[in-house]
Amino acid sequence: MLRIAVVGSGPSGVYTAQALIQQNRVPGVRVQVLDRLPCPYGLVRYGVAPDHEKIKSLQNNLRAVLEDERISFLGHLEAGTPGLGPERLLELYHAVVYCVGAATDRRLGIPGEDLPGSHSATDFVSWYSAHPDTPAGDFADGALTARDAVVIGVGNVAVDVARILARAADELRPTDVPETALGALAHSRVREVHVVGRRGPSQARFTTKELRELGALPSADATVDPAELALDPAYGSPGTAAALPAVHRRNLEVLRGWTENTARPGAEGGRERRIRLRFFLRPVELLARDGRVGAVRFERTAPDGDGGVRGTGRYEDIPAQLVLRAVGYRGEPLPGLPFDARGGTVPHAAGRVLRDGIPSPGEYVAGWIKRGPSGVIGTNRPCAKETVESLLEDAPRLAERRVADDPEAVLRAAGHRPVVWPGWLAIEAAESALGASLGRGSVKIPDWDGLLAAADGSADGGTGG
Ligand code: NAP
Repeated sequence: MLRIAVVGSGPSGVYTAQALIQQNRVPGVRVQVLDRLPCPYGLVRYGVAPDHEKIKSLQNNLRAVLEDERISFLGHLEAGTPGLGPERLLELYHAVVYCVGAATDRRLGIPGEDLPGSHSATDFVSWYSAHPDTPAGDFADGALTARDAVVIGVGNVAVDVARILARAADELRPTDVPETALGALAHSRVREVHVVGRRGPSQARFTTKELRELGALPSADATVDPAELALDPAYGSPGTAAALPAVHRRNLEVLRGWTENTARPGAEGGRERRIRLRFFLRPVELLARDGRVGAVRFERTAPDGDGGVRGTGRYEDIPAQLVLRAVGYRGEPLPGLPFDARGGTVPHAAGRVLRDGIPSPGEYVAGWIKRGPSGVIGTNRPCAKETVESLLEDAPRLAERRVADDPEAVLRAAGHRPVVWPGWLAIEAAESALGASLGRGSVKIPDWDGLLAAADGSADGGTGG
């Protein structure tokens, strides 16, 4: 029997586990999926916006995989902590596949970035997603008293946070957004949300479906400045636009529609809030006012003819009492694993972890920690498949390694208290009960104590210990 640990239960981890059990080259594979949280599903639970119910429903597919009898879930186990480092895991399992994602945000590296009122978008996402590492009070005590918010970056995370800021709380009530966040959003005074890209609309990273959604919100008008659209070389030139990737071409078409037809959703229609898409503005400084952020200074940029931009020496200040920096995620080193700090990834060859340039027997990576934080959820499938192919090629040698017969028992004997599947089901049941008590559907529990207490309430004790 080949015992494999998959570290991380987000899409890349679950797709890796699935590929391992669906193959028929190596018989008798058993997979344990470890996660540092007591809850599975990674960014599908803690990153996908609550109003994206269809993407959220992917949890049902991931659940079906994790409920396979050849797979077990061990939550509340953090790989890389003392007693659970890569060396130890290799004593317990024939192979370990790290699918730990990109846990932190990229920095802007400009003055004023850490002023009160300036936050990473990933922190805001974690807050409204009830991530237990983000205190429920974080954005509840004052951040949403801002009238003007600036979101820096024009990727899908920027679009997500702008949309949540622009929605009326009633629109979010049917979702699983935690109660504290819902209350804070209900009292939000945010009226203007400026979403700002340093390059042009034809280089924006958001996808067209997400952009269209911004133009169709019930309580916010989405606008774009025609003069800034016109700065884009592809905007007025069908020939240049035709050479763009389809998603960028379609984005331009949607934005053109916003400027051309004032009767269409997306034009200024007197709704309560406004989302203003801005382009060719590079952030240079966050300006303080009364000890907090009061505005963001941008330098006007111009296309350099090569897909990039150059500065023009002209500046514009956009008022902002709340700034969300949505400039991408970044992978973090896992103690004991090699790390390429420049790319924020683990060096690898077709998923095999490289130590000093040489494949390390039994160690693999998949997902964002392998290829960097890009692509949609489905991108993780082929990525996981490639890694599993490598692992299966190596299987005869891996099987020769002597490992523990029952890794879970060894971990428990060492004092770990994993949350196993019934514990997770108990958390789900507690979240349904919480929602029912509030007259809502399922509502997420936002804190560690609450999650672990709910897991403990399961029939077999939840932590099984
Ligand atoms: P992203 O797609 O990489 O976008 C990052 C944005 O930040 C880009 O506009 C980038 O501009 C800008 N940026 C980077 N450094 C900057 C700087 N120093 N100053 C100003 N702007 C800067 O990252 P993301 O939005 O975090 O998304 C990560 C991944 O998750 C993406 O693959 C995304 O599609 C996915 N995701 C998908 C969904 C969905 O499907 N609904 C939702 C959320 C996230 P440049 O292009 O000029 O570098």
